[in-house]
Formats: sequence, C-alpha cells, structure tokens
Amino acid sequence: MVIKCPKCGRTAPDDSIYCPYCAYGLRPLAITIRVSAGGILALVAAVASLIFFTLSIRALLEIYSWYPQIVAQSWFIYDQMLTIFAFFGLFTALPAAVLALSRKSYRWTMILMTLCTLSGGGAWITSMIIPDSKLLNSVLYYFLPVFLTPLVGTVLISPRKAEFKQYTKRHQKNERDKEKNESKTQQPAS
Ligand SMILES: [Zn+2]
Repeated sequence: MVIKCPKCGRTAPDDSIYCPYCAYGLRPLAITIRVSAGGILALVAAVASLIFFTLSIRALLEIYSWYPQIVAQSWFIYDQMLTIFAFFGLFTALPAAVLALSRKSYRWTMILMTLCTLSGGGAWITSMIIPDSKLLNSVLYYFLPVFLTPLVGTVLISPRKAEFKQYTKRHQKNERDKEKNESKTQQPAS
C-alpha cells in the first residue's frame, strides 16, 4: 500500500512518517530528532547568551577600574553592543527552545530563531571589530555558540512544520471543513 504526498504528489509507503522525496510530514505530530536537536541548540544558544550577558554587564560596570581610562573608553561602546546582543539573544533563544521542544508554534519558533541568529551574528561581528580582537577567540566564543548554533537550529527546524501543534490543528480543521463541504455538495438540492 502507498499514500500520495499532498505536497509533491509522489507516492510513499503508507507507513512513512515523512515523504521520502520532499520531507513533507505525512503523519500529524510525527516527532523527529531534528526539531528536538534544533530546540536543544537554541537552549545552548540561550545558555551562551546568558553567560555573555553576565560577563559583559560585569565588564561594563568594572571596565574603568580594569584598564586605563583611554583603553576603557575605546572598549566601552563594543561592550555595550555585546551586552545588547547577548540580552537579545537570550530572550529570543529561550522561548524558541521552549516552543521547539514542546512543538507549540512553528511560526514563532522560526521568528525567534531567526532573530536569535541575527543577534548572534551581531555579537560575532562586534567581537571582530573590537580593538585587539583575535579571530580565533571571536570564532570560539561568539561565532560558534551564539551564531552558528541558532543558525543550524533554524535550518534543522524549518522543514518540519508538520510537527507543530497549531499547524497540525489548522491542517486537520481544513481537512474536516473540506470533507463537510464535499458531503454538502453531494446532497441533492431540494
Ligand atoms: Zn513529497
């Protein structure tokens, strides 16, 4: 027995959870490792952002006691930028992780993951233009944890819309409505 994929129209074995050709979800709430992995990556980004937020707030408060005035001044603006990006990263990654792991809202997961990736990119760019920056450090401390992590998470989650509850509910409702309409039109007009 085979079923027809509603997206690409090709046929797949009827026990398939996903279409083997276009990866469309053929079963409601088919939970995959991909979305879970994406959610965990968002969680990692949230933890990394929290650490950077804490560190950069501390640096903002104490930088003038750490360095000579002139050095501290040249660092201050970058530290402010890193603090803002880290704050933004934390408050997008955390809800994105919760939404992805609970399969609550596909749209909000994608919006938050994208914003988190952008703020991670901002933090990474800041870490490269900061005075005396070292490429290895900015890759290790910024590129990997706060940019690449949510980016990979976004890429993993994006084709898995069928796993999310709101989508599934709406999808099922549409199917039901369609059936109702069909049975109505089949009734002879009186
Ligand atoms: Zn397909």
